[in-house]
Amino acid sequence: MSICGDEKRYRIQMIAEEIKRCRKCGLSETRTNVVPGEGNVDSPIVLIGEAPGYWEDRRGRPFVGAAGRLLDEVLKEIGLRRSEVFITNVLKCRPPGNRDPRSEEIKACTPFLDRQLEIIKPKFIVTLGRHSTSYIFSKMNLDFKGISRIHGRVYEARFTDWNCYVMPTYHPAAALYNVNLRGDILRDLRKLKIKMDLLKED
Ligand code: URA
Repeated sequence: MSICGDEKRYRIQMIAEEIKRCRKCGLSETRTNVVPGEGNVDSPIVLIGEAPGYWEDRRGRPFVGAAGRLLDEVLKEIGLRRSEVFITNVLKCRPPGNRDPRSEEIKACTPFLDRQLEIIKPKFIVTLGRHSTSYIFSKMNLDFKGISRIHGRVYEARFTDWNCYVMPTYHPAAALYNVNLRGDILRDLRKLKIKMDLLKED
């Protein structure tokens, strides 16, 4: 069933309120703010990162640090503004010291992501880095064999009652340390934008 923009905004807001009250894992003890995600709930694209970092935890918003600036730049280069997409993470709270998410944290937190996706029903999901790719692949019953082998490929997926395309790419934070990866992310996103534009014409 598809729902209208106001209803989507309301439901996404209700999930954000639930996340604020969440105490399902230990990250609730160390967080400053939860980072539920933000953006256009009517967007055909959802980008999924790993987990909030220092600045995201401070500000309660996804991708507002250095990795976020890089992400904004590449989005701009393919003609998309951040306000045109929805951005969220696998985990909604920062792991201390930006360590990798633990499996019990992923298990506790991903029902929120699942519900966000279920409401937005994006036509395209971009997974940023190995953690979000691995999670979305597990939902698609696909084996994840490493981001360098599969980034930039477009996969057709069926979730509950909607179809979508999933494209993994590198995490923008990785491109801060390896400039070649920035070019890879840009090429991957360009490919996705071409696919989006082609589908718009159909
Ligand atoms: N890295 C992520 O994966 N998500 C953020 O929101 C910020 C940095």
